[in-house]
Amino acid sequence: MDSALVYAAIAAAVILVLAVAAVALRRRGGAAGIEQGGTTPRISDVVPVETSRPEPELVESREGVLEFAVSEVEVPEPAAGRLHRLRTRLARSNTAIGQGLLALLSRDSIDAATWEEIEETLLLADLGVGPTNEIIERLRTALRVEGGARSPDAVKDALREALLALVDPSLDRELATTAPNRPAVVMIVGVNGTGKTTTTGKLARLLVAEGRSVVLGAADTFRAAAAEQLQTWGDRVGAVVVRGPEGGDPAAVAFDAVSAGVRDGADTVVIDTAGRLHTKAGLMDELDKVKRVIEKQSQVDEVLLVLDATTGQNGLVQARVFSESVNVTGIVLTKLDGTARGGIVIAVQRELGVPVKLVGLGEGPDDLAPFDPVEFVDALVAG
Ligand code: GDP
Repeated sequence: MDSALVYAAIAAAVILVLAVAAVALRRRGGAAGIEQGGTTPRISDVVPVETSRPEPELVESREGVLEFAVSEVEVPEPAAGRLHRLRTRLARSNTAIGQGLLALLSRDSIDAATWEEIEETLLLADLGVGPTNEIIERLRTALRVEGGARSPDAVKDALREALLALVDPSLDRELATTAPNRPAVVMIVGVNGTGKTTTTGKLARLLVAEGRSVVLGAADTFRAAAAEQLQTWGDRVGAVVVRGPEGGDPAAVAFDAVSAGVRDGADTVVIDTAGRLHTKAGLMDELDKVKRVIEKQSQVDEVLLVLDATTGQNGLVQARVFSESVNVTGIVLTKLDGTARGGIVIAVQRELGVPVKLVGLGEGPDDLAPFDPVEFVDALVAG
């Protein structure tokens, strides 16, 4: 009996030792698997990646056309007061016209050499020859009336008046962004790189800030990132964005955008167009076609030409080409925060006979301001 018990105890001990050894071996094998980069799941497989904002909700999808909207939207800054908020950027970039001219005009005697310096300053600020001569004439007359006693205030007033007369406060700068019983249609045109798509997005914000409902048409189908860029702008303020396939027909997208605007009862449809200056004739045909196709449904109320203020004379050449292709009704001068050449405002208005209606003064989403001549000139002269 005793020996039977001893055998049983030995057998149990052997079984226990074998079981422990087997478990230990399995553990070592598993560890080797991790080191070799086996099938162990990565953190991203088990923890969902968080997105910073909700995915846009698909509102409607038709062949070749996608429309999205999101419920969480930003509240853009009101239009009123924007230029005032941004005036330091304007003043900083235009010290040559403001402070430079004031210093020259305040000299004890303004001799021929000083007038030459004044002329040079105005030309360097991109005013152009005609407006420069006109300002000089106005200043000469004003200061002659003042006689010898030129107080700093009188000099400032004379400069302010001369600049204001050329910027022309009498021009109608109202944007045609509403129309009775239909959406107003705004076309944004300009050479790629001028800030056209950015301006389209910023304009949507400006309109939303005024309580308008907006549809955006991404008709720049040639620049790969343009539609995506516009989608982001639209999503941020809850504007519907109508897109087409990359490389597709811009006129078809413009047409669909206007249809969507009519169907949704939107206040304004803003259409970003392609700005490839490949050939002048090509550009003309393209813009002309987009406009004609839109006009099958609605008139085009506003054609805004976007010009980069830093490009000077080149901007004026572009302005001429575009105005031959479409009937430009307003100018948007972008990057006015990055140039010492605010005179382009005057030069381009003269060139096209069309007012500057909006100015871009930075890369922030609300750095697009309705242009106000008095605020503009005051910012220049105040320095
Ligand atoms: P598009 O090719 O004409 O559509 O040009 P984009 O809209 O893509 O803009 C080109 C670049 O210009 C972007 O980096 C914009 O942020 C920048 N931009 C646009 N407007 C302004 C502006 O008013 N000031 C500054 N500093 N940059 C701007």
